[in-house]
Amino acid sequence: MDVIVRKKTQAVRVGDVTIGGDAPVVIQSMTNTDTADVDGSTRQVAELAQAGSELVRLTVNNDDAAKAVPRIKERLLARGVTAPLVGDFHYNGHQLLTRHPACGEALDKLRINPGNVGFGKRKDDRFATMIEVACRLGKAVRIGVNWGSLDQDLASRMMDENRRRTDPLPLDVVTREALVESAVSSALRAEDLGLGRDRIVLSCKVSEVQALIDVYRRLASRGDWALHLGLTEAGMGTKGVVASTAALAVLLQEGIGDTIRVSLTPEPGAARTGEVIVAQQILQTMGLRAFVPLVTACPGCGRTTSTLFQELAADIQDYVRARMPDWRVKYDGVENFTLAVMGCVVNGPGESRNAHIGISLPGTGEEPSAPVYADGERICVLKGGDLGRQFKEIVDRYVDETFPHKNH
Ligand code: SF4
Repeated sequence: MDVIVRKKTQAVRVGDVTIGGDAPVVIQSMTNTDTADVDGSTRQVAELAQAGSELVRLTVNNDDAAKAVPRIKERLLARGVTAPLVGDFHYNGHQLLTRHPACGEALDKLRINPGNVGFGKRKDDRFATMIEVACRLGKAVRIGVNWGSLDQDLASRMMDENRRRTDPLPLDVVTREALVESAVSSALRAEDLGLGRDRIVLSCKVSEVQALIDVYRRLASRGDWALHLGLTEAGMGTKGVVASTAALAVLLQEGIGDTIRVSLTPEPGAARTGEVIVAQQILQTMGLRAFVPLVTACPGCGRTTSTLFQELAADIQDYVRARMPDWRVKYDGVENFTLAVMGCVVNGPGESRNAHIGISLPGTGEEPSAPVYADGERICVLKGGDLGRQFKEIVDRYVDETFPHKNH
């Protein structure tokens, strides 16, 4: 596999997590509970952390939310959840952080949107107040620009300058430049106010794939700040997954991005943790990190006319994900485990040999038996109506015999 060379950025410590520098790309997520609901927010942060979110952001939009943050943190620690918490501030962050010092203390990072802190001198004062809190408490800050809330003073000034040029740039290019300029100028101001570059993370989020790629290339060329990557408002279902993956994959392949968030809109009633799983899958399928064993499965075709193959592929993927919390504690390197569940003899044996463990199910008209391969060798042939149970037993045994036990 080709190695991706990451662009070297400043390492930023956020609680026990490092963003940037030589650290692997970090996954983060955001709650959608009312932060003032301490029970609900604690539960969701714990779920996101359990799913693999290494930082979790909460909105801090009013006094009740600011008061709730220290209580959420306390309850999380009591449950053994240590994922750093990020407070998302807009409009009134300067007031909330001043009125509720315990909120700032409980947070590990503050997210400030320079487009949402006011105008003119007020903006400068409010921004300075929040940076001073971060400096005093030793907290990291994400300066998070979003094109839905771009600093209008800056954007107007850059548009005016562009109009005066003899060769004006297209307006979308000026907007992208304004996003980058907003992030960079805010970061430089924060540094002037005493916040070290090792405490600053930048983001410039937009909702279009090509625009995001262009903006982050520009941003990465402007300095060595650690970068938070994400396509904002990616959308629902497969559209959100595909758009996020298309944008993030290009940038990650170019070595750009130190932490990612996949901003999916959950289907009604669906778990918030879906965005964490997608983020893990993006990093794992690109070979950047490993989280859970991957199951290779063929798409099926006219040679697989029963649902046995689809059911077994889904069952095995769910099984290894469910086993991971236990396996992770017991076995070194088990996240690199690979499996294959294949539909017939055409590609089944080949793909199964490429995985640590693979099973090639009988296609339509084939003998009703399923050869199993381990480390490239055929080890047995399964028959009967409980192939899933038999295969899971083989998987468990293989993991136990192959991956080093952590307590030995
Ligand atoms: S392995 Fe067999 S069942 Fe699966 S897609 Fe290929 S030909 Fe079809």
